[in-house]
Amino acid sequence: MNNLTLQDIFNAFHVPPSEIRKKVITQAYELAVKAHAGQKRRSGEDYVQHPIAVAVILAGLGMGGKTIAAGLMHDVPEDTTIPLTDIEKQFSSEIANLVDGVTKLGKIKLRGSHEEYYLENLRKMLLAMATDIRVVIIKLADRLHNMRTLEFNPPDKQIRIARETMEVFAPIANRLGMGEMKSELQDLAFKYLDSANYELVKNQEEKYYEEKEKYVLQAIAELEAEMKKAGVTILETSGRAKSVYSLFLKMKKHDMDINRVYDLAAVRIIVPEIADCYETLGIVHKKYRPMIGRIKDYVSLPKPNGYQSIHTTVFGPDGRIIEVQIRTQKMHSEAEFGIAAHWIYSESKKKKWKDYIFRTAKKSEPVKEIEWVKQLREWQTEIGRDDEEFMKSLNIDFFKNHIFAFTPMGDIIELPEEATPIDFAYAIHGEVGNHTVGAKIDNKMVALDQHIKNGEVIEILTSKDRKGPNQDWLKFVKTSAAKSHIKKELKKDGLIK
Ligand code: MN
Repeated sequence: MNNLTLQDIFNAFHVPPSEIRKKVITQAYELAVKAHAGQKRRSGEDYVQHPIAVAVILAGLGMGGKTIAAGLMHDVPEDTTIPLTDIEKQFSSEIANLVDGVTKLGKIKLRGSHEEYYLENLRKMLLAMATDIRVVIIKLADRLHNMRTLEFNPPDKQIRIARETMEVFAPIANRLGMGEMKSELQDLAFKYLDSANYELVKNQEEKYYEEKEKYVLQAIAELEAEMKKAGVTILETSGRAKSVYSLFLKMKKHDMDINRVYDLAAVRIIVPEIADCYETLGIVHKKYRPMIGRIKDYVSLPKPNGYQSIHTTVFGPDGRIIEVQIRTQKMHSEAEFGIAAHWIYSESKKKKWKDYIFRTAKKSEPVKEIEWVKQLREWQTEIGRDDEEFMKSLNIDFFKNHIFAFTPMGDIIELPEEATPIDFAYAIHGEVGNHTVGAKIDNKMVALDQHIKNGEVIEILTSKDRKGPNQDWLKFVKTSAAKSHIKKELKKDGLIK
């Protein structure tokens, strides 16, 4: 068994870590080794291997020193004799709070049905997300390593953990735009939840790729030549494998016939600017006939988690169906690294992005992946002093002004700060909003202009007799969806112009 060491954490960084980072990580490492001394995992290895592996994952995600230190100590207060107050004294209240947040996320009372349990879990994750996203990222890294080592657990525990991973953790990773994390969690969970289908899909996928690989490579070569002729810069092209679980979901829609899944063989083209995406789309369609109704423009209309790309399905070499995905480097890094990339990019775009494009991407000279990783390293050295920067940009870009409320059925509704039950009602459906007569928050009747708080359960009371919205609602609603619905109805009734 290969034991992980402190050096493996440092090696996982995209940028060699600063001395300050190394110091806090080393201290946390030493505390974790001491605290978990003598403890073993079910696999037989030293327990401390688990928190070290978590730290390696966090370093690879581009997290800062405090988050990695907290990752190293995340099981200390719960599973050892060293209390949280020691961590606070030796490190800081910020790091202690991170550890405490992860510990609390783990303590979920098992009660009621499976569904209630998952709902409770999801709710806690979302609340933590809104207060300190780093806690959730540590928890995801913790879960990823537990899933990678799930084989050493008894079967009933395997199923419980795998189900929870599929229903709670993978959706959260997806919500954070962490595509790679989501896919790995789903594939690992799928293997335990439905091993027969997992094997079936995996084998079929491998066979399929063997057959299709040469068409994909041919398409890449042909498209590269066309783009060179047109003078469009390519930063990168690649063939792409689909995760086993997402392929399974697609196959289920098509009677488990893999030949009807059109985006399995895919070519990905990465270009510098948004305008290049559309130009490339034109080049692709000139070369290969597009399939009708299969062009998806997530650049103009991003997916709810922020995913951006243009997808088109075409009849490629030999008339073989392939999908082509076109995106900029920024979109690409956001799709892979999720929230961390967003931070890296938003911090650096003012000063560095243009330089990068013009310095490294000479015409028709594809930039290899390694260039991109190198660039990422440089950015992290320049901007990645520590987690404060990360938190600051997250507050600006992601979670500021966002709250999560729940329907009585457990569906999550995302709203801006100071949103009211009327906003909530219109977020569910226009007709629900128009017929609202009252609202309950956590089972208590409230005024319709009450501000909703994170994690509250909102029940909207409606009446068929209600003819439409009240003009006064316009004074307090926060979402544009609510405003436009209300105005539309009032106009219809001639109450406003
Ligand atoms: Mn753990």
